[in-house]
Amino acid sequence: MFLTKAVCSLRAFALAAGLLAGLPAHAKEIPLPPPRPPEADLPQEQAKPKGPQQIAADPAAIEAARHECEAFFKADIAEAEFVDAIAWDNGCLAAAPVSVTAIKLANGKRIELKPAAVLRCPMAYAVANWVRDALAPAAKKLGSEIERIDVAASYACRPRNNVLGAILSEHGKANALDIRSLHFTNGASFVIEKAQGRREFLTEMRKSACARFMTVLGPGSDRAHENHLHVDLQARRNDYKICQWILPRPEGVTSPHEMAAIVEIEGRGKGKEVRGTETHGKKPANKL
Ligand SMILES: [Zn+2]
Repeated sequence: MFLTKAVCSLRAFALAAGLLAGLPAHAKEIPLPPPRPPEADLPQEQAKPKGPQQIAADPAAIEAARHECEAFFKADIAEAEFVDAIAWDNGCLAAAPVSVTAIKLANGKRIELKPAAVLRCPMAYAVANWVRDALAPAAKKLGSEIERIDVAASYACRPRNNVLGAILSEHGKANALDIRSLHFTNGASFVIEKAQGRREFLTEMRKSACARFMTVLGPGSDRAHENHLHVDLQARRNDYKICQWILPRPEGVTSPHEMAAIVEIEGRGKGKEVRGTETHGKKPANKL
């Protein structure tokens, strides 16, 4: 057995040597790796395509933004603290952003924001007032209290809907909040996706959001907002507002007439935009 193996190995070697001997001299050399491209010799940062660069925030802008924060902090309606100024050369900017960990209620209780939301002060102020003056009372009507709000996004330096080349999202200015769900002290949950939870609360949430924010986008507005509610304070010409969050047909309602009556009461409709209290038929670009 050993002898057979040894003969076989010897044969294989002889065969390989014979084959190599038959090849031209240059083919016997081990092939060299391709030459390095010139950019490979550059430092790593220079070789990469240039992304957005952080820039120094304008001290005057910081001062002005901090001034805007005074009323928010004085109101003492949230647990919040300043975080570093945000300034990027692609337009992402918030000169005096705050990190909000909770909303304080008048009765001393707190509603946690999880994770903490990084917002500019006017937006933080608007969110805190909304939660205190509209959402908390709506929860009380259902015999409970809000314990926690799950945040899907707050400040994020990105274009709208993460589409490369799209205009900067209000999230890039710390002027927007995305809410995924709310959780009550009695264990009840309200999930924006598929409108899970008592309809009375969601209806009140929708109505109050549309009254207070410049943009409200939820399920039914576009594909990017099927699993969260986006609210922001984007300033537009003539105070133009967008209010698009379609709540599904309530259980037990089958007739179109009954549904139309509900839509009328709730003051909503697909693709509805509101300027003040007026409605318009024109559909805006709503990818935020
Ligand atoms: Zn958003």
